[in-house]
Order: sequence, then C-alpha cells, then structure tokens
Amino acid sequence: MIEVPTPFAVGNVNLYLVGDTLIDTGPKTPEALKILNQINLSSIANVVITHGHVDHHGLAYYLKEKTDCTVFVHENDLLSVSAYRTELEKKSWRYSDFLRKSGLSRKLISHFEEYYRGLSTYGESCPAEPLKDIIMTEQGAMEVIHTPGHTGGSCCFVLGDIMYAGDTLLPTISTNPSIHAVFDKRCGLEAYQRSLHTLSQLDVKKVFPGHGVIIEDHARRIQTILREHEQRRLTVIRSLQEAPQSLAEITKAVFGEIRASEILLALAECFDYLKILQKENLADVCEEDGLLSARRI
Ligand SMILES: [Zn+2]
Repeated sequence: MIEVPTPFAVGNVNLYLVGDTLIDTGPKTPEALKILNQINLSSIANVVITHGHVDHHGLAYYLKEKTDCTVFVHENDLLSVSAYRTELEKKSWRYSDFLRKSGLSRKLISHFEEYYRGLSTYGESCPAEPLKDIIMTEQGAMEVIHTPGHTGGSCCFVLGDIMYAGDTLLPTISTNPSIHAVFDKRCGLEAYQRSLHTLSQLDVKKVFPGHGVIIEDHARRIQTILREHEQRRLTVIRSLQEAPQSLAEITKAVFGEIRASEILLALAECFDYLKILQKENLADVCEEDGLLSARRI
C-alpha cells in the first residue's frame, strides 16, 4: 500500500503496486508526485484506475508520459480520465442545474461552482483503454469486477484472495453512491447496493480500499453499510412533512448545516432516497416551476 495525501476531506488515497501494475495514481499535487517518484517507475507496465475520480487518476498522464504504460479504466468512466477538463465542465453545468432545482441559495451555488472548478487543477487528461475482464500482471491474472454505484465505471480487482476495492468498499466512511446518479442512471443507491451484494458473495480474505485501512471481514463491513443505508432511509422518511418541502429544506433537516464542498453529496444522496421512497409509495417527489420538492404520502 502506498499512501498519498490529497487536498480533499477524504484524506489520503491508497495506491497499490501489484508487480508491474499500479492501481490508481493519486491527484496531481506536488506532494503526491513526490511520493509517486519514490516508486521504481520504470517497472510499471499497466496503470489501472478503480474509477474516474481525480484523487484516483489525476497523475495517470504523468505515468503514461514517463513510462509509456497502458492506462486502463472501465469504459463508463473512460472520458473522465481521457477528457478530464471537458468532462468536469460538463458535470459542473449539470450539477449547477441540479443545485438550482434543489432550491439552494445563489450564494451557496456560486460557492459550490468555485469549489468544483478548482478540481481542474488536480488532474490532466490521459489516453486510456477500456478495462477487459482480466488484467495480466506479473503476479498473475487479476479479475475485474464491475461495481457501478459510486460512479458508472467503478471496478474492483481480485487477485487470489485479495480484492482491491477503490471507493466501492471503504473501512470507516460511507461511499457516496448518489452523486453521479444526478445525471447517470447507471449509478445510485440501488445500483450500489446490488454491487455490494455481488462483493459480499466473493471469497476474499482481505480488501485493500482506496482510502483507509485494510478490511479483514468484507461481508461484515457490507452488512454494516447496508444497515447505515436503512438508518438513513428512516431519517429521510422522518424528515418529510405533509406539505411539500424543497430538496434543500429536506436535506438540511436530514444533514444539518453543510459545507460548500459537501453540499452536492448531501443533496444528491437525499434525492436518491426520495426517488426510492417514491417507488415504495412513501413519498411524492415532484418538479414544479423548476424546483424539486417532496412530501410524505
Ligand atoms: Zn471516488
């Protein structure tokens, strides 16, 4: 495990060197670059990216330039890596639109936009190949398990009885499965829960996550996460009132005051739960005059 600092609230990101294959790269910061350069880069033939978030792929371009390695990422996250800034710009527009519909104040929207645009400094576009079912490493064939939820192209990699899980399974913090669901139907809580069920069936002894310490009992960790989801679902139900409230009001009732960097995560997660509650006939979600609202049924 190679721990690399990030400027994000999540803290360090973990990279893993499996023979000639590096899993994830860290963000483009001088601190991350310094740590990456302590590895014998000439031994790297493949870089595999667990998912298209910049703390995981920001330095892929540097490794490609330096070693001419092949960079792999799932096809659903390919553009996030190969056209980083263009994709970031597109997502920024979609998120601003979602925040406006949520009923967030102009001031908070502009704080968010400033934060989101700032992400462009932490990565560069890098030509990448879509992942296939297997990655051949010097230590053997590593199986690719597609686990959509956190992003549409999130993947875990299994080699022997070890799984590299990226952000799909984390030891202490809960993975946000909803942020991409704002514009990508392949993501979201339901997809993420299906991915967790897939992972819980795998016979692995250790899980090496994208952040935090090694998970020794992954089936137990998955049960804990699923229980947390149920708790959050109940909190969202309890926060609903009979009169319609805007998504921003409901999110505030669920999460309290939130920082600009976290606000999208919280709104997207609440919206995800509301859509599920609507399917279960427990909530009515509607969009009127460009404003998302929900009420208890
Ligand atoms: Zn991520």
